[in-house]
Amino acid sequence: MTRSISIFGATGSIGDSTLDLLRSDRDAWDVAALSANCSAEKLATLAREFGAKLAVVGDESCLPELRQHLDGSGIEATGGKQALCDAAAMPVDISVAAIVGCAGLGPTMAAIEQGHTVALANKEALVSAGEVMTAKVAEHGTTLLPVDSEHNAIFQCLEGNDLADVRWITLTASGGPLRTKSLAELEAVTPEQAVAHPNWDMGAKISVDSATMFNKGLEFIEAYHLFPIGLDALRIIVHPQSVIHSMVEYRDGSTLAQLGPSDMRVPIASALAYPARMDTDLKPLDLANIGELTFFAPDEERFPATKLAREAAHAGGAAPAVLNAANEVAVAAFLDGQIRFTQISAIVARTLDNYAPPAPASLDDVLAVDAEARACAAEMMEPA
Ligand code: NAD
Ligand code: MG
Repeated sequence: MTRSISIFGATGSIGDSTLDLLRSDRDAWDVAALSANCSAEKLATLAREFGAKLAVVGDESCLPELRQHLDGSGIEATGGKQALCDAAAMPVDISVAAIVGCAGLGPTMAAIEQGHTVALANKEALVSAGEVMTAKVAEHGTTLLPVDSEHNAIFQCLEGNDLADVRWITLTASGGPLRTKSLAELEAVTPEQAVAHPNWDMGAKISVDSATMFNKGLEFIEAYHLFPIGLDALRIIVHPQSVIHSMVEYRDGSTLAQLGPSDMRVPIASALAYPARMDTDLKPLDLANIGELTFFAPDEERFPATKLAREAAHAGGAAPAVLNAANEVAVAAFLDGQIRFTQISAIVARTLDNYAPPAPASLDDVLAVDAEARACAAEMMEPA
């Protein structure tokens, strides 16, 4: 039996990995919509390859180019923010939310509202919307499957168990490419150095987040919403080999962990096939060859991001959305050469100090907080 699927952010790193898995079992999938921000040519090529019904560009100015590349294919093309949400509202068995940043919030919420299954990679959407999103998931009876490798690991370790029996959830962090750098060295880090992740091949934004540890900070908040056992039961440990993707310790002293190669096709495959399993052609985990697994406590002096995220999570309300928006603005400015690496966390901290709106109660509220926090973060920017 074929299953219908839509992929939002189909031209990105998670999109590539997802489509690669679909290729290995082409007849099992019926592709409804594929989206990109612009990348019109790549999107059109993918839409043709997978026989998609609809291709959507988030940036409406790219629609004429998309139409041109799809000419004669019979594939419908649309563009703009509303078009993305409309596409996400089309019923499918599984929707993959793989847009980067809060830009994915609208489409992810629209996908959740159809009440089927949403495979969530777009962590910024959940971090920003928090309870607004989890309430929608509950209201529509949607199955939300985490794709983020840590959360997918935790999800797997929780299967068949009761959350009430969990003592700790431990998120592992690779520590990123700058793990061993001193504070002085961090001041001089270039975008090229920051995006050169030792274990994972990812989009630019998450690669910088991994270098600052904001990725783990966002994941801490993501875990809090996905697995509601309370903030004090969530821990972070640095594990540079990225072999253990996260762990759950139960009250009897048993700790369950999920291990696997550092390849996003593993957690994506687990979400696509859930609750069954599917084949992947990845090399099996070779622990004898890896030899050693090591663990360190996070250093929040050199990498304050996890502390900022934990504080924002404790503050609750709008704070995580403000943290996320400020981080998105700061990361873009860093990648653009406007600010230094260490200014990213400084800008996030200052934005949180200067902008503390009331808790958002709706999607519109979250989007308004996001927009305002972006403006506030832009004002906090000092030249590099
Ligand atoms: P990416 O930059 O490689 O791809 C992002 C995708 O989103 C592209 O298709 C792009 O066209 C689209 N996009 C970007 N801005 C948009 C906008 N304003 N409107 C509409 N579409 C837009 O990013 P990625 O690495 O694939 O990450 C995607 C999401 O998955 C992020 O939230 C990231 O944190 C999460 N994630 C990624 C990985 C990974 O290994 N890459 C792992 C875990 C979680
Ligand atoms: Mg992750």
